Amino acid sequence: MGLPLEISTSAVTGASMILPAVILRRIEDFNRRLPSVSDVVAFVLIVGSVTALAAVGYTLALSAAGALGRGEFGPVSWRLFVGNFIGIIVIAPAVFILQSPPNRPFRWRWVVQLLAISAALMIIFGYREATAFQLFYLLFLPLLWVALTSGSSGAIFALVVIQCGLVIGAEFRFGADPGLTALQVLMIALTITGLLVGAAFTERETTAARMRDQQISLSRALRLRAAGEIAAGIAHEVNQPLAAIRAYASVAEGQLQMGDTEAALGILRKLSLQSARAAEVIKSIRELLHQGAINPHPADLTVMLQEFAELVAPELASNGAQLTIEVSPGLPPISVDRVQIIQALHNLVNNSAEAIASTGRRGAVQIRTAMRDNKTVSILVADNGPGFPVGFSHKHPTPFFTTKDEGTGIGLSIARTVAEMHGGRLLTKSDLSGASVEIILPAAES
Ligand code: ADP
Repeated sequence: MGLPLEISTSAVTGASMILPAVILRRIEDFNRRLPSVSDVVAFVLIVGSVTALAAVGYTLALSAAGALGRGEFGPVSWRLFVGNFIGIIVIAPAVFILQSPPNRPFRWRWVVQLLAISAALMIIFGYREATAFQLFYLLFLPLLWVALTSGSSGAIFALVVIQCGLVIGAEFRFGADPGLTALQVLMIALTITGLLVGAAFTERETTAARMRDQQISLSRALRLRAAGEIAAGIAHEVNQPLAAIRAYASVAEGQLQMGDTEAALGILRKLSLQSARAAEVIKSIRELLHQGAINPHPADLTVMLQEFAELVAPELASNGAQLTIEVSPGLPPISVDRVQIIQALHNLVNNSAEAIASTGRRGAVQIRTAMRDNKTVSILVADNGPGFPVGFSHKHPTPFFTTKDEGTGIGLSIARTVAEMHGGRLLTKSDLSGASVEIILPAAES
């Protein structure tokens, strides 16, 4: 063709290889291993358009140099396009994969699949009565099998094998028959189908794997959150006895300095009671965590509540809240973990006292027990404070909801957990007279 023509046509061919690479590298999340349908679409469209342009450019150069006969422009550029396009879309992905081959254990299935591809090729080229094109569709079967079992990388290699088989088969069967282009067009359809199906399969596998990973990190996050919740719970429960111990210790110190040993001894006894309470709280939380269960014993609710009132009434009174207890007679026996229930009540009564204190007025907290129906007993803690704040959800209570500067938002959650572990539940309500929280417990079976 002469040197200038050789150089210009080679430049066009070279550009048709380099340009798609340059464009694809600019697409931000394009993955050259073609693991997703969008990668395949971008790859095929860009390579297709550039090779089409290059084929036209090449043919223009040929005709400008007078190397083309009349009416040859169309067929020549078409053949160039088909040849280059199929070459690139079959070979380039395989080269990209070979740069860092996937590390997969050998499978006998691959051998069988290779045999299936060879069998299809043999039928296509060995069946003398039909033209090769008539039986070409047979190749779709093994290709789809590979794509649906090994994803995009499998499909890419199967396509290389098929392409080699087609070249060898066509050479034997047709020699240098120009009708080969028709076979190549079929091969383009086969290649695009294989790449798309393989990518769709890989995409599905990747999504499944990502879901599994997310599940694992989610459950880790939930565990961490549970741990955080428990830590906050312990801090919440132990804070009160600790504060009391600190206060008693300083009072006792003052009394000892004044030489009043008798009074100091009384205070120290109270201090020791509070430290026992803290220890008991920690022990019961530990048991709750260890067994995820409670340790119920038959209990007399009336006695339990009276003891509880004696414990907390003085503290409440000093905060401007008066505690009263109203027990309905003839309650059925119940079986409870005493420490847990007292803890739950403590949280509720404290909340009431704090709600009352926030109004700056004196108020009242009432604990009422009642039979709800034949099977359940309720312990109601009601106050005449401002009621639950706006934003508090009675239907879907959330742990950590707090309106207090130093609140943890965990007190109600703990009370609810305690009620639920007893097979009961916790209801919250606000009305004009204030807030009320009801612990509903199942009566013990006779
Ligand atoms: P905390 O007391 O640490 O805030 P809780 O879970 O015990 O955590 O309470 C969550 C929130 O519910 C409180 O911050 C408060 O806004 C509201 N609340 C609880 N009990 C009452 C009550 N008796 N009256 C009004 N609001 C209450």
